[in-house]
Amino acid sequence: MGLDEDALEYHEREPPGKLAIATTKPTNTQRDLSLAYSPGVAAPCRKIDADETDAYKYTAKGNLVGVVSNGSAVLGLGDIGAQASKPVMEGKGVLFKRFADIDVFDIELDQTNVDAFVESVAAMEPTFGGVNLEDIKAPECFEIEAQLRERMDIPVFHDDQHGTAIISGAGLLNALDIADKDIADVEIAISGAGASAIACAKFYVSLGARQENITMCDSTGIITESRVADGDVNEHKAEFARDLPDGDLADAMSDADVFIGLSAPDIVSPEMVRSMADEPIIFAMANPDPEIEYEEAKNARDDTVIMGTGRSDHPNQVNNVLGFPFIFRGALDVRATEINEDMKVACAEALAELAREDVPDQVVKAYGDQPLQFGPEYIIPKPVDPRVLFEVAPAVAEAAMDAGVARTDLDLDDYRDRLEA
Ligand code: NAP
Ligand code: MG
Repeated sequence: MGLDEDALEYHEREPPGKLAIATTKPTNTQRDLSLAYSPGVAAPCRKIDADETDAYKYTAKGNLVGVVSNGSAVLGLGDIGAQASKPVMEGKGVLFKRFADIDVFDIELDQTNVDAFVESVAAMEPTFGGVNLEDIKAPECFEIEAQLRERMDIPVFHDDQHGTAIISGAGLLNALDIADKDIADVEIAISGAGASAIACAKFYVSLGARQENITMCDSTGIITESRVADGDVNEHKAEFARDLPDGDLADAMSDADVFIGLSAPDIVSPEMVRSMADEPIIFAMANPDPEIEYEEAKNARDDTVIMGTGRSDHPNQVNNVLGFPFIFRGALDVRATEINEDMKVACAEALAELAREDVPDQVVKAYGDQPLQFGPEYIIPKPVDPRVLFEVAPAVAEAAMDAGVARTDLDLDDYRDRLEA
């Protein structure tokens, strides 16, 4: 059977879907039930009424993330709407559970109006320890996230933006290390100016890149000051406008050290790769088909091309599952009020460091076909590597405590031991 048939059978098999609710306390006797519900349940209610943070103590809030979407930019499927997005949001729940033992309610909201969407999500704050916004189209996603971060006292994280930025940022740190280039000096050409591209550009600046060294292209070409003056680009793109003559992606890539693709398939040619600086770094992440095929980019020139894609069948997959489960794990475990820039940088650096260490045999076996030794073909850890949890979650928790956004303090050694147990 093909993948589509297999996937339909997988989802349809009884019970339909991929998630269910489980009880975590005894429910056998009348006594158990009178503790779980009326009249006993009144006692934790009174505690929380007196001190809201007791919700973390007496309810599942602290391990529960809302995966919230309106289905307006789903995978490569586009604006398929809230109902059709539900398999994806349930799937995100599966990944949270599988990689970080975090429970998820998937929330599909039939709402495209920004203010109404924000109101709905903000009103759900009592339910969740954090909110993962998912598959919401640009530019609305920027406004929705900004408003919710302002209003809510729990982490709000749009994974399509920041997850991609963090994982590719980790890969970029290591690729630059291998190419022996300084992030503050490199010229970066970015194809795409949507949700993920804008977030990546901002995050690379947090990692040390200079904004004036970033050239961003949308489907019209380079985002220039003159296009801003013409009113041709939205405010989010305008932030990255350069004072250059109008040009296309080929112009942007000429002499660039780094190419970041978050746009469309097959728009980069071998000539464009040859026009780049020595030992170029190319992350062609359009899914499922990259801006340039892996082999085509590698073979375009004689020096080393450090290549990453969004695909699992090539080395250096930029896979968001390396980020969100572990960022939320660390954030939830210190009852963080937000996921801030320091926590994202800590995540990227922890991932980058992990890729420089020897890989356990069990992980090597799971990827028999790929070299897993730090170098051009291995700059990002693999998702099945159990060390990702032990390294990333404590790094994020520590950054949250240092930044003063943690509601509780953790002993990091104890915490790491607990995660490994
Ligand atoms: P998005 O918000 O829709 O943005 C897409 C951007 O690509 C837009 O700015 C669009 O230009 C631009 N674009 C389209 N065709 C182009 C072309 N021929 N040349 C240059 N730019 C072009 O989408 P997104 O969520 O950021 O995702 C973009 C791509 O990255 C998708 O393929 C997605 O699957 C992939 N992605 C991969 C990963 C990963 O590998 N981990 C993560 C996130 C996204 P206009 O603004 O002019 O329309
Ligand atoms: Mg997504």
